[in-house]
Amino acid sequence: MVQLEDILRARTRISSTVKVTPMMKSHQLSERVGAQIFLKSEHLQKTGSFKIRGATNRVIQAKDDEGAKFVTAASSGNHGQAVAYIANQLEVPAKIVVPTDATTSKVNAIKEYRGLVEFYGTTSAERIPRAKELADELDGVYIPPYDHPHIIAGQGTVGLEILEQIDDVDTIIVPVGGGGLSAGILTVIKEKNPDIRVIGVEPEAGNDTAVSLDRGKITAVDGTDQTIADGLRTTQPGDLTFPILQKYMDELVLVNEDEIRYAMSFVMERMKQMVEPSSATTVAAAMFGKVHVADEKVVCVLSGGNVDLGKLGQTLVKTEGGS
Ligand SMILES: *Cc1c(COP(=O)(O)O)cnc(C)c1O
Repeated sequence: MVQLEDILRARTRISSTVKVTPMMKSHQLSERVGAQIFLKSEHLQKTGSFKIRGATNRVIQAKDDEGAKFVTAASSGNHGQAVAYIANQLEVPAKIVVPTDATTSKVNAIKEYRGLVEFYGTTSAERIPRAKELADELDGVYIPPYDHPHIIAGQGTVGLEILEQIDDVDTIIVPVGGGGLSAGILTVIKEKNPDIRVIGVEPEAGNDTAVSLDRGKITAVDGTDQTIADGLRTTQPGDLTFPILQKYMDELVLVNEDEIRYAMSFVMERMKQMVEPSSATTVAAAMFGKVHVADEKVVCVLSGGNVDLGKLGQTLVKTEGGS
């Protein structure tokens, strides 16, 4: 399992690439929830999400320690952009396998970071083997989105920053997709101060980790493409991430699509912060009472800010008291 020392070393390794993102306090949210609500603002991170932390920690080691001449990834989303960005910085060629129906804006973001793009299939079950095959053919290394110790350690650096940015935090709320971000944060928090609660959030339509925790084993679910939180559409937790979540996570809560939309609209309208639906799940969990946090100091992790502007109009809803 990933240890605190791995995360401390990751921080040194990635510090010249990755930003220390701001911790914002929201008075409006705090008043509404009846707790002090802070927002760890990874939507302001390089490439627009925390994914650059793990990708940087992994690609640097693939290049320096494993002699990678080439890297591949299978993602049109935040992970694909992060891998393309850091590979370009390190002058390692990258090929990102994206679905044939990927939106142009996402493909263009990868191309702007000089990543090569291959269109292949429509599901990750098709794309991942293709990205691995490309890596094998060309002496490259496949970079997975969450299930690797270097990725988990990189994502865990968010946890180190949270502890340094706020004293006496009571509860941290973090979104759960494949579990890389939550496993990394849990490792830091539970090794440093196990009294701090760490609560995971999933969309109801993407409840694979909730089901897996209930059953005590990794369980795949269908229909995760039904959630607007596209960073949380994984169908099952990872082999390496799941045991960490099982060991350390205090609680995992679910939010529905209306709650995600409302929270996203609230953060955009009142706080003027551009967040994507996956980020809004943590705010939704606090706003809609999924977690008991009265009078506590609470950090909601805003994991990313890459929104498809063309779809924003259909996503946002009216918030009460809003203009
Ligand atoms: C990837 C991602 C997540 C989920 O992270 P995991 O490490 O897969 O659990 C959450 N939010 C955003 C914005 C993401 O890109």
